[in-house]
Amino acid sequence: DAEVVLVGRSNVGKSTLMRELTGHTFDTGQRPGVTREPNHYDWAGPDFVLTDLPGFGFMKGVPEDVREEIKTDVVRYVEANAEKILVGILVVDGKSVVDIIDRHSGPDEIPHDVEMFHFLREVGVEPVVAVNKMDKVDDGDERLDDLCDRLGLHPPWQQWQETIAPISAKRGNIDALNEAVRHHLHEAQRDDL
Ligand code: GDP
Repeated sequence: DAEVVLVGRSNVGKSTLMRELTGHTFDTGQRPGVTREPNHYDWAGPDFVLTDLPGFGFMKGVPEDVREEIKTDVVRYVEANAEKILVGILVVDGKSVVDIIDRHSGPDEIPHDVEMFHFLREVGVEPVVAVNKMDKVDDGDERLDDLCDRLGLHPPWQQWQETIAPISAKRGNIDALNEAVRHHLHEAQRDDL
């Protein structure tokens, strides 16, 4: 079956979004690093599987080497299944993502989110960035343009609506994400004809 995966740093609202997408309840605010295995759920009809992958990046109380292991596991899973994964939803926190990216950009440092975005593309998985918590952001268009810029996409963000999806999972406002994912799924089906 075709697959859509969900990746993202911890605390960006991945569990909240999973609940919106699937109707299942998930332990939000769960002890970080506990969910280590990929979890599969039916989504958008019987033809697609939505896979929730463990959150990576900084987690309070989780040692550096464990965090690295988690990220390696995520990368390995995507690599091993790249053939059937059509879309990779990279969930980010719209309020803080640009600041975090800028803080971790340097000559020998690539921020997790930027790395993951390019990695998905490299293995042939269409990335869709779910920019979550937009309810907390005042200067939305500016933030989204900045994010595009950091990901190497030319602003304005409005020309990337298949890739950049501003949402508020907590408020159940995820139309932009559904649209973007549906777009890629349709494209993939058309390619199969
Ligand atoms: P996870 O670690 O990525 O699974 O993140 P959670 O789903 O547990 O959410 C982390 C925190 O962010 C929780 O306090 C959520 O209530 C909050 N959160 C999730 N989505 C949103 C959102 O769209 N807006 C706001 N303001 N908070 C959110």
